[in-house]
Amino acid sequence: GGELRFDGVEFGYDPRRPILKGVSFTVPAGRTVAIVGPSGAGKSTIGRLLFRFYDVSGGGILIDGQDIREVTQQSLRGAIGIVPQDTVLFNDTVYYNIAYGRPGASPAEVEQAARLAHIHNFIMALPDGYETTVGERGLKLSGGEKQRVAIARTILKNPAILLFDEATSALDTHTEREIQANLREVSRGRTTLVIAHRLSTVIDADEILVMEAGRVIERGRHMELLSRG
Ligand code: ADP
Repeated sequence: GGELRFDGVEFGYDPRRPILKGVSFTVPAGRTVAIVGPSGAGKSTIGRLLFRFYDVSGGGILIDGQDIREVTQQSLRGAIGIVPQDTVLFNDTVYYNIAYGRPGASPAEVEQAARLAHIHNFIMALPDGYETTVGERGLKLSGGEKQRVAIARTILKNPAILLFDEATSALDTHTEREIQANLREVSRGRTTLVIAHRLSTVIDADEILVMEAGRVIERGRHMELLSRG
């Protein structure tokens, strides 16, 4: 994993309306940092800047000390693996959907990624099920299982940086807990940035940043933030 650094990042979709107002943080190699805060705080904007959908208007974003504006779009895409809230899966096998994460990966590598995400028992299933000759639908993957496919796909890519962008917010509470446990498992030892609504979902992050209106207003570990109220 690489080190990710936001250094005094300023940005506005409209130059007259600043959205991020000097955001600085570091995710050390192999560590997990979470960003929480209310809707509209600027959390997703951070993800979009990381992918260079937009460029910062001040400050910089660095991966292993290198400004992301100095690397090719292709190598930037290769360096970042995202697990979003809703991943688009193909109407093809789970195997194929995972293998898409890294063209050229061997079957053993695909299998290994599937195991890490605990979806290996479904490797030949179709996400939306089979339509039989009499028009019945066979086994369909649940929302949580689909999210495991997305996780396996991203892990197979072996990116320098993992980005979880509200990766469990579309799931029911029970499934959310299960998928969070898996995300913690796969993020261990990898540089990970977690974007979340709620503090309760990011208990074990090495550092949690609380954002509000485009600024980091608090930072610390989970217990520290809770004890401050
Ligand atoms: P969060 O992820 O914390 O909910 P966002 O980063 O999505 O916050 O949004 C931060 C602010 O930027 C909000 O005021 C939002 O309205 C604004 N915003 C988000 N996307 C766009 C866009 N594409 N164009 C203009 N304004 C946007």
